[in-house]
Amino acid sequence: MKVLVINCGSSSLKYQVIDSDTENVLAKGLCERIGIDGVLTYQKPGIDKIKFEAPMPKHRQAVELVLKQLMDPEVGVIKSIDEIQAVGHRMVHGGEKFACSTLLTDEVLQTVESCNDLAPLHNPPTLVGVNACKELMPTTPMVGVFDTAFHQTMPAEAYIYGVPYEYYEKYTLRRFGFHGTSHRFVSQRVAEILGKKPEDLKIIVCHLGNGSSITAVDHGKSVDTSMGLTPLGGVIMGTRCGDIDPTVVEYVAQKEDLSLEEAMAVMNKKSGVLGISGVSSDFRDLEEAAANGNERADLALKTFVHTVVKTVGSYVAVMNGVDVIVFTAGIGENDTAIRASVLEHFGYLGVTLDPVANDVHGKERIISTKDSKVTAMVVPTNEELAICRDTVEIVTKKVVEEAVKEVLK
Ligand code: AMP
Repeated sequence: MKVLVINCGSSSLKYQVIDSDTENVLAKGLCERIGIDGVLTYQKPGIDKIKFEAPMPKHRQAVELVLKQLMDPEVGVIKSIDEIQAVGHRMVHGGEKFACSTLLTDEVLQTVESCNDLAPLHNPPTLVGVNACKELMPTTPMVGVFDTAFHQTMPAEAYIYGVPYEYYEKYTLRRFGFHGTSHRFVSQRVAEILGKKPEDLKIIVCHLGNGSSITAVDHGKSVDTSMGLTPLGGVIMGTRCGDIDPTVVEYVAQKEDLSLEEAMAVMNKKSGVLGISGVSSDFRDLEEAAANGNERADLALKTFVHTVVKTVGSYVAVMNGVDVIVFTAGIGENDTAIRASVLEHFGYLGVTLDPVANDVHGKERIISTKDSKVTAMVVPTNEELAICRDTVEIVTKKVVEEAVKEVLK
C-alpha cells in the first residue's frame, strides 16, 4: 500500500510517500512559506533534490502541488492520485479524547477541533491540512496519529498539576506530554532490538532535538513525561525555557514592560540554550563556541545536561529502576558528548558507557559495555514510519470490518 504521510505546520507541510510493504520512502519533501509565497522541495532516491518556487496562498494549493509533483511523468512516483491508498496525518493535540490513532471521520475532526484551545498554534494548521487532503482526495481514508496519545496511560498523579482541581474538570488543564509517536516507536524498537517484550522492560526515552522531551516507559506504557500542557515544559530546549518557576513570566513581563503574550513568546522563542548562550539554538554551534572559550555557550550545554540528568534520575525513581536509557532525535542520535555527559551521572546505577560504541551518529547501537547493569542505546526515531504503520493498520481494519458487514447483510 502507498501511504502519504503529512505533517502540517502553520506555514509548512512536510510529506512522505511510503510503500508500506517494504517500508521504503518512495519520495519526500517539504512545502514552506505557505500563505507568504511558496517553496516546494522534492526528494526521491536516485535523483538530485528538486526545489522550486510556486504560489501557495493556502494549504490546499500546497497539497495540490505535492500531488502534482508526485505524479510528474519524469520524476514522480505515482501515475494517478488513486495509487495513494491512505493518508496518515500527524496530529499534535488530541486532548484526553484520543488514546490511540484513529480514522478521521467528520465527527472525529469536530472532536479534534474542540481541542484547539489546548494547542492554538499547532492544531488549526493540522486541521487545515486534513481538510485540504479531504477535498482533493475525497474517497481516500485519512488517519490521525496524535502526539499526545501515547501518554494517555499516565496515572493521574503524574498528570495533575498542583492548581485548583476544578481547572482540570472545567478546562482539562493537565500534563499531556508530546512526541508520543516517537517515544512509542523508539521504546518498541528497543524491545525488538533486545529481543524482549515491552512488558518486561523499564525504559527511559530521551528524545533530544530542537524540542526535547523525556518519557518513562514502564511495561510498554508511558507513566510520566517531561512536556506538559504544551510542548513548552520539561527540559530546557533549543529556544524554549522548559520548566521554570511560573513567577518568572510575570517578573519578565513587569521588568521588560511586555504583555503576557510577549513574555510567553520570549519563553517559547528566545529562551532555552539560545537564551542562555546568546549564540545559537543548534548544539553544533554551541559546542564549537564552547570549544573556542565561549563561557555562556558552555553554561548552556551544562544546563541542558543538568536538566536532562535531573529528569532521567526522577524517572528512575518513578519506575523504581530502569533497564534501558535510550537516546533519539537530532541531539540524542548525533551528539556523542551530550550522551556521555548525561550517562556519567548514572554510574551509581551501574551504567558503564563504551566510548568506542558511543562514537555513532544516527544509527541503532548499544553504547554501554556488556557488563553495564543498565543498557544505554541510540535508536533513531522515525515518526513518519510510525504514522504509516498506524494508518495501514486502521485502514486494513476498516476494510475487514466493511467486508464482514457485507457478508452479514
Ligand atoms: P531535531 O529537532 O530532532 O531535528 O534536532 C535538531 C537539532 O539536533 C539541531 O538543532 C542540533 O542542535 C542537533 N544536532 C543535529 N545534528 C547534530 C550533530 N551532529 N551534533 C550535535 N547536535 C546535532
